[in-house]
Amino acid sequence: MSDYYGLLGVDRDASFDEIKKSYRKLAREFHPDVNPDPNSGEKFKEITTAYEVLSDPDKRQRYDLGGDPFSQFGGGQGGFGFGDIMDAFFGGGQSRGPRARQRAGQDALIQVEINLAEACFGTDREITVETAIRCEKCGGSGCANNSRPSTCGICKGRGETQQVTRSIIGQVMTSRPCANCQGYGSVIADPCGECAGDGRVRSRHTINVKIPAGVETGNRIQMAGAGEVGPGGGPAGDLYVEIHQTQHEFLVRDGYTLHASISIPMTSAALGTTVTIETLDGPQEVAIKPGTQSGATVVLKDLGVTRLRGGGRGDLVLHVEVVTPAKLNKEQEELLKKLAAIRGDDKAGAEIHKAQSGNHGGFFGRVKDAFNR
Ligand SMILES: [Zn+2]
Ligand SMILES: [Zn+2]
Repeated sequence: MSDYYGLLGVDRDASFDEIKKSYRKLAREFHPDVNPDPNSGEKFKEITTAYEVLSDPDKRQRYDLGGDPFSQFGGGQGGFGFGDIMDAFFGGGQSRGPRARQRAGQDALIQVEINLAEACFGTDREITVETAIRCEKCGGSGCANNSRPSTCGICKGRGETQQVTRSIIGQVMTSRPCANCQGYGSVIADPCGECAGDGRVRSRHTINVKIPAGVETGNRIQMAGAGEVGPGGGPAGDLYVEIHQTQHEFLVRDGYTLHASISIPMTSAALGTTVTIETLDGPQEVAIKPGTQSGATVVLKDLGVTRLRGGGRGDLVLHVEVVTPAKLNKEQEELLKKLAAIRGDDKAGAEIHKAQSGNHGGFFGRVKDAFNR
């Protein structure tokens, strides 16, 4: 893709005013009406495209992120196109013919919040959308009583009127959209009472969205044709439903793996025990082996999140923390001392560990990542 910032000679963090100023300067220099160089037309087109992208916050962001600035969400339509920029600076200049009354509708984006269980197993959700739908009364034509638009008497159907003006770049022939017909080349003499000639009306309605198992925050479900109907009853855009998954009370998601953390008493860790864990599939009994160390993990197969495109489920990883008693009564202290003496722990010193890189805090690092998503 072209370097739009380079073409306009501005920094990547340039403000809208700086971009506009630079574009105006270059446009005057390279406009084919004033620059005899045969390459100037191409150059003018390039800088104009650069300006079209960088002056539109949405397009600029898509471009900055490495995407196609003219794709998706109404890009290229509805916004201002090449001809509009020409109008903005030169009052036209190129013959464009009448505007089409019927144009494609914009895409729409709606966010839906789901919980972890819904993300894991999938769900159906009724959502209410407010958008433009085709006007029933006129079938999208915008004309009342089955009439048709009639040719504009001012521009004779050309959609534009021309005049010669003097400007900063010399004498130029400019053409403007015809004021009588707004550039359509035709006028609706008898507009539909329901949509006032637009061919579409606002509507609030509910649609059912099937959310597949395995989705996560940021995933978008495309619903073709559920976006807004275009002007003149033009084809509808698409609706994108963007998923936002809320944080579960104690299950932390990392892709298709779930993590949970429990604490058990020192004695249970030494002797072994059975604990009951609440999972997305209901309570599960989990055996903790005798001699379990703090930081140990128990993997519960297939109790994680369902994989989005099949292939079963991830695992639930249980992280065990062993709790050393903070307070002992006399009797407990006596017993522990006795145990220590029997085990010889009272004579054993601390064992220093060899330094090693790697897994320290691996779980907590992942948990932090999951929270920060
Ligand atoms: Zn006209
Ligand atoms: Zn209508």
